Amino acid sequence: NPQSWEARADEYSLYGFTDLPSVHERGAVVLTHGEGPYVFDVNGKRYLDANSGLWNMVAGFDHKGLADAAKAQYDRFPGYHAFFGRMSDQTVMLSEKLVDVSPFDHGRVFYTNSGSEANDTMVKMLWFLHASEGNPKRRKILTRWNAYHGVTVVSASMTGKPYNEVFGLPMEGFLHLTCPHYWRFGEPGETEEQFVARLARELEETIEREGADTIAGFFAEPVMGAGGVIPPAKGYFQAIQPILKKHGIPLISDEVICGFGRTGNTWGCQTYGFTPDAIISSKNLTAGLFPMGAVILGPDLADRMQAAAEKIEEFPHGFTASGHPVGCAIALKAIDVVMNEGLADNVKRLAPRLEAGLRAIMERSEHIGELRGIGFMWALEAVKDKATKTPFDGSLSVSERIANTCTDLGLICRPLGQSIVLCPPFILTEAQMDEMFEKLEQALNKVFAEVA
Ligand code: PLP
Repeated sequence: NPQSWEARADEYSLYGFTDLPSVHERGAVVLTHGEGPYVFDVNGKRYLDANSGLWNMVAGFDHKGLADAAKAQYDRFPGYHAFFGRMSDQTVMLSEKLVDVSPFDHGRVFYTNSGSEANDTMVKMLWFLHASEGNPKRRKILTRWNAYHGVTVVSASMTGKPYNEVFGLPMEGFLHLTCPHYWRFGEPGETEEQFVARLARELEETIEREGADTIAGFFAEPVMGAGGVIPPAKGYFQAIQPILKKHGIPLISDEVICGFGRTGNTWGCQTYGFTPDAIISSKNLTAGLFPMGAVILGPDLADRMQAAAEKIEEFPHGFTASGHPVGCAIALKAIDVVMNEGLADNVKRLAPRLEAGLRAIMERSEHIGELRGIGFMWALEAVKDKATKTPFDGSLSVSERIANTCTDLGLICRPLGQSIVLCPPFILTEAQMDEMFEKLEQALNKVFAEVA
């Protein structure tokens, strides 16, 4: 039916990151509204969104307090910028709040419209301040394979995924180190400690080979998100941070997914026991209600950035909607809702139950090789053979088939590589978690029976 919502979606729009043949075969899902962690399509079908949209709708899809905060600010002062020494009162309050809840005792905040732009902005800040300090050659950026930092030309260059080769990226000067995923990349016979020592050596050797005076910064997600929910090997950040410090290389924590409660603490860097030089925030920052990102500089970078801006007169960068008052009002409310209305507590309280339920599913399945995650972000990795960790033949795309079957059953989860990812909204109840377990296991059993 060419008039159907699904056909119209297909006819006029382009999707991001979408397996198009699969959508042509199955039809698009067109959504109209949400309730708690559920979304509803144009046919009235209900789906439990175990993805929180794209990790961001942490307070669910109908939080009244957040919508009210947005409406009140639209009525009061619906838009402004943060250029030329002017900004809204909401922007001032949010910057104070972000520094207050950050691990830093002093800092400064710069706003963007997205996580990608926040990473881009951070790179430009590093280039700007190194140049102002007489080190214009300090331009290389270090990240890791499987990292996801966004899609702009710079943040896609930081992302460690082969799919960016179609764009001729990464640009020169963006270097990717080994992904700290011990289960997959540990060598036979290598202990986790030895694996971490090897990665630390690789970092040291890379810095020596390239020259510390050519490296602008090192970016890392505390837990890699879109790379497939990959928590760092034990002791990883403790091993690499002293090396970065020794060479004067800033460590930037990309907390676009991990920030504001996803790992069980306010920041992922707190969960993994390291203090970065700056934090990149987005997504949860506004509980998904407004496109907004933030660079939160810790004391050292904040002071150096201020000095650089004074020396060069201005930092020639910023977006029309940087520090948008409605976005800031929503973020202030979202931080309050997550931290003070029990959402972060719910993650802490229910994370062990979530892990136990998924572990039980893994143990009952012959084809789940690894369960990994923390807090409310988890992945189950599908393997043909558990003992040898052999993946299914790539062309089978088992994870995609599992996710499609889940969608049929009214559960949205995400296939990433060979993994199925679950990152539910923070409001999830025990009963909703059980619904998620049941539908997921039903889908796994069905697909594994077909492909095994
Ligand atoms: N950094 C991380 C860790 C992310 O997960 C994402 C998006 O998923 C980004 C950056 C990019 O954010 P955005 O999609 O808002 O540009």
